[in-house]
Amino acid sequence: MGSLVLEALSKRYGQSTAVERVDLDVPQGEMVALLGPSGCGKTTTLRMVAGFVPPSAGRVLIGGTDVTRTPPHARNTGMVFQSYALFPHMTVADNVAFGLEMRRVNRAEREKRVREALQLVRLDKLEDRLPRQLSGGQQQRVALARALVVNPAVFLLDEPLSNLDAKLRGEVRMEIRSLQQRLGLTTLIVTHDQEEALTMADRLVVMERGRVRQVGTAEDLYESPADPFVAGFVGRCNLIEGELETPGGFRTATGALLPCIFGPRTPAGRVVMALRPEHVQIAPAEDGPARLQAVTYLGAQTEYHLDFNGTPLLAIRQTPAAEDPLRRLSNGDAVAVSWNPAAARLLPAAQ
Ligand code: ATP
Repeated sequence: MGSLVLEALSKRYGQSTAVERVDLDVPQGEMVALLGPSGCGKTTTLRMVAGFVPPSAGRVLIGGTDVTRTPPHARNTGMVFQSYALFPHMTVADNVAFGLEMRRVNRAEREKRVREALQLVRLDKLEDRLPRQLSGGQQQRVALARALVVNPAVFLLDEPLSNLDAKLRGEVRMEIRSLQQRLGLTTLIVTHDQEEALTMADRLVVMERGRVRQVGTAEDLYESPADPFVAGFVGRCNLIEGELETPGGFRTATGALLPCIFGPRTPAGRVVMALRPEHVQIAPAEDGPARLQAVTYLGAQTEYHLDFNGTPLLAIRQTPAAEDPLRRLSNGDAVAVSWNPAAARLLPAAQ
């Protein structure tokens, strides 16, 4: 068992940088998700922790020990791959036993631990099957058992759910989270699916172009994003570019003056106003400054796509009752728009 620490971890391939000075501290038993768009360096970071990719600079510490130069099999990590990477000609039990054989665990101990690991993932009745005789979800659980059987200090998951259909993904997500919590596993999971990251992890690391943009809980990232990239990547957000005017407010690039509250940490000059769509109130008004462009009914919620003085604006409201005048809005109607100025965050414009 152990904590995981990354110190200024970097990876360069020739002239290009895949991962740039990543610092991260994962205490024992915590689950952290690396989240970000394709190519941002998530998998490379995970592979450096596992030992499959040698870092160009920086250190990896597991349980306080520097393992940067330790080969993968001696690191005490258990990894689950996106493709599961099961051996097709080996039974479920042999697949799970593989890591123990590599570690020269004796046969009696091996059999006991394989049995326990298969019970853990509820596959103990299928130990003699071959991978091709299993469903996708079952194969995924074999991969989990194979990673867990070695009692890893650090559990590494690389997009573990991306080959499952939506319903199964939800179930396996809960299963992995409950195993991780029950066993107190220090876990790093890579995903580009924000819902997966938000529902499974204690904390999230948002990466972009090899760098960490922000580390925090789901609430931290959603309610206090550090920059427009994080605001736009975690949840939906109106990102409106403009300048601050004192006194006055926020002047959009299209010239509208919008309400906002300046705080002690409000950046100067060009800024982006980040406004979550659930904070945008709308009302039918003939002289309203916004025009409705599209209404999307989603059952419990309705999305209103607006043009607000040339700026696109999204409002998401709980679907109004049948008698509510909002219900009669249609495309092209004029709409009044408002929000609590405290809900609008002013973030530095991208460099
Ligand atoms: P995805 O979500 O698509 O898997 P990712 O965030 O995991 O993306 P990485 O696979 O870590 O991203 O890749 C980060 C960057 O490093 C990318 O620009 C990629 O092209 C580059 N890269 C990764 N592996 C190599 C390699 N072996 N040689 C050269 N460049 C590489």
